[in-house]
Amino acid sequence: MTLTTSRSTEVQSGGPGLRQVRNVVTAIPGPKSVELNSRKSAAVARGVGISLPIYVQAAGGGVVLDVDGNTLIDLGSGIAVTGVGNSAPAIVAAVTEQVNQFTHTCFTITGYEGYVAVAELLNELTPGDHDKRTALFNSGAEAVENAVKIARHFTGKQAVVAFDHAYHGRTNLTMALTAKSMPYKSGFGPFAPEVYRAPSSYPFRDGGLSGAEAAERAITQIEKQIGASNLAAVIIEPIQGEGGFIVPAHGFLQTIAAWCRANGVVFIADEVQTGFARTGAMFASDHEDLVPDIIVTAKGIAGGLPLSAVTGRAEIMDAAHVGGLGGTYGGNPIACAAAIATIHSYQNDGLIERARDIEAVLLQELGALQAVDPRVGDVRGRGAMMAIELVDPATNEPDAALTTRVVSAAHAEGVILLTCGTYGNVIRFLPPLTISDDLLRDGISVLGNVLASS
Ligand SMILES: *Cc1c(COP(=O)(O)O)cnc(C)c1O
Repeated sequence: MTLTTSRSTEVQSGGPGLRQVRNVVTAIPGPKSVELNSRKSAAVARGVGISLPIYVQAAGGGVVLDVDGNTLIDLGSGIAVTGVGNSAPAIVAAVTEQVNQFTHTCFTITGYEGYVAVAELLNELTPGDHDKRTALFNSGAEAVENAVKIARHFTGKQAVVAFDHAYHGRTNLTMALTAKSMPYKSGFGPFAPEVYRAPSSYPFRDGGLSGAEAAERAITQIEKQIGASNLAAVIIEPIQGEGGFIVPAHGFLQTIAAWCRANGVVFIADEVQTGFARTGAMFASDHEDLVPDIIVTAKGIAGGLPLSAVTGRAEIMDAAHVGGLGGTYGGNPIACAAAIATIHSYQNDGLIERARDIEAVLLQELGALQAVDPRVGDVRGRGAMMAIELVDPATNEPDAALTTRVVSAAHAEGVILLTCGTYGNVIRFLPPLTISDDLLRDGISVLGNVLASS
């Protein structure tokens, strides 16, 4: 165990060296976290909520250590960000080296190799072997906004279609693209114009529509209500994230993409949550042999540093004039150094295979829960992106209250669990790909216990 000294108190370093076992030694949150949280309430805007108000001291492998000495199992990865694990040694080394060289130039003032290298990696790894270009930004929402800007510039058209249950971010345009009102949009309008919504494919709740049928339903609505001649882009998450880890029926994505191709509409895959080994493939599009015109990535791209990317067909990406894309921090050199190390780790450390192993463990454990508890209405997802949907077994109605109870009870036992879903009744599992099977099984057994008594 490495101990470093900071401000005269002993501080545990993060990374895989942290002891990989759940260990709850105080109430959750403990006294130091409670104290920090009262400072938070007095200093931080109320709108910035914290769903599990422990304060973190170190994290790595599959655990998070809080300031009270509790070790919690991490089944969230900070929302699918730390796929390679928190403070992964290769990323710490790459970031440290870069920090010592230079921290910022603004890529649109003077260039540096890291930015170009990330673009090369993304052009190579994203689906399709066509000629590609990439532009880098800071957040998922900023990248989505830029993907739409680029599609509009390329097509000379304005309308954009997003889907039911979609989540694309919290900036003005991306709030418009996002479906759910509370908490993301309520009171924050007016929203950006020329954004339209189409019905999606939700196998658990759409009465068994096939992928092709669900796509035809969406396409008919798009043709009647917007018209392809007005439509710049269709944007979709290949597996919907915040909306409930909804895997569309096979063929849905392909049919929509084919219609886009035939109608001069740019097909944008938002892989901000699904990208980078998370689903047991480098990108979720790969599972469906889907080749998007533009793919948007962020979250898992840089081991926790803020970075996002828009990668697409060269002729689309190059449509915008010189100087039309950019930003002060986009493709920051430290974030790029982290991304290069992170992407190499996905490629070389067996993390795609690891995501598939995690899927097997989760399917087994969650399937066992479902077999004994009919309130587990659905078990779904891919790779290390799995979820359960909790329902009233008599009616299949979403049970958000049960979901909230279960998740807070799991928090108290030292398991970081996240919810999602339009109806607030989905528990999602997004562990770091570096979590051990033992921790994973322990986390799900805690879930099973709290579910049984909720
Ligand atoms: C998180 C997320 C975003 C927004 O990313 P931020 O970095 O939070 O702006 C966009 N799309 C999807 C699918 C996401 O999961």
